[in-house]
Amino acid sequence: YAKEKGRSSYRFYQSKMKNQLENTALMEAHLRRAIEKNELMVYYQPQIDLETETITSFEALLRWQNPKFGFVSPGVFIPLAEESELIIDIGNWVLEEACKQLYEWKVQGISNIRIAVNISPKQFREDQLASKILYFLEKYEIEPSLLELEITESSMTDAEDTMKILKQLKSMGLIISVDDFGTGYSSLSYIKRYPIDIIKIDQSFIRDMDTDEKDKAIAQTIIHLAHNLGLDVIAEGVEKEEHVGFLKKQQCKKAQGFLFSKPLPIYELMKEIPLKK
Ligand code: C2E
Ligand code: MG
Ligand code: MG
Ligand code: MG
Repeated sequence: YAKEKGRSSYRFYQSKMKNQLENTALMEAHLRRAIEKNELMVYYQPQIDLETETITSFEALLRWQNPKFGFVSPGVFIPLAEESELIIDIGNWVLEEACKQLYEWKVQGISNIRIAVNISPKQFREDQLASKILYFLEKYEIEPSLLELEITESSMTDAEDTMKILKQLKSMGLIISVDDFGTGYSSLSYIKRYPIDIIKIDQSFIRDMDTDEKDKAIAQTIIHLAHNLGLDVIAEGVEKEEHVGFLKKQQCKKAQGFLFSKPLPIYELMKEIPLKK
C-alpha cells in the first residue's frame, strides 16, 4: 500500500510540476505582450526626509495586471522577465515612464524631486543601458541627477565590468544606490571601491527593529558605515513610528515605507500630497 501511495504521490507531484511549468510558460507568453497591451503600470512610493518631513524622491515600482492572471506581484514576474530577455524591454519601458514623469513635473515647475528606478542584474550588464538612458534624458530634457538607479549586490559580480559600467553611469551624472543592502553575498569592500551614492538598508533589518536587538544593531551599523564613507543612507520598509524614532536618533535622514505611503499611481499620490515647488 505504501509503495502504491508513494508511486501515486510521485505521479501527483510530477503532474503538479508539469502544470507549474506550463503555467510559467503561459505567464511568460502573456508578459511578452504586456507592454503593447498596456498591462504594465508604474506605481510610485515616496521617500521622506525625516528632518523636514517632506518628499525628496519616489521609487518607481512596476505593476502588472493581466486578464488571465489578474494582478501579478513583481516578486513573481520580475524573476520571470529576468530569466528571459524580457527584462531589457520592460526595464527600458520603466526608465522611459520615469523620465516622462520627470518631464511632466518640470513642466509644472517641480524640479527638485528625484525618481529611483530598479535595475535588474541582466539589464545592468546589457550593452545598450547607458545609451538608452542618455537617449531618454535628452528626449525628455531631464537633469541626470534627478534619475537614480537602484542596483543590488547581485549586479556587482564581475569587479572590472561593474566598475566600468558604474563609472560610465556616474559620468553621465546619474545617482547610484545599492538596494536591499546587507542581504547579498558581496564583500563590504565594494562599497569602498565603487562610485555609489546611497545605501538602502533592506527592510528585513527594519521590520522588527523595535523589538529585535540584533536587527537594531545591524541597522545602526549600516547607518554609521554609510556616514563614515560619506554616503547617503535610506531605510526601507518603515512601518512604525518607533522605527522613525530610532532612525532619527541614529542620524538616518531618509526613510521609505508603508508608514508614509504604499506605492500608488502618481495621480493618487498627487491628490494626497501636493509637492512643494
Ligand atoms: P525593492 O526594490 O526592494 O522594492 C521595495 C519593495 O518593498 C516593494 O515591493 C514595496 O512595495 C515594498 N515595501 C515598501 N514599503 C514597505 C513596507 O513598509 N513594508 C513592506 N512589507 N513592504 C514595503 P514590490 O513593489 O512588490 O516590489 C518587489 C521587488 O520587485 C522590488 O524590491 C524590486 O526588486 C522588484 N521590482 C519592482 N519594480 C521593478 C522594476 O521596475 N524593475 C526591476 N528590475 N525590479 C523591480
Ligand atoms: Mg528598489
Ligand atoms: Mg529593496
Ligand atoms: Mg528587493
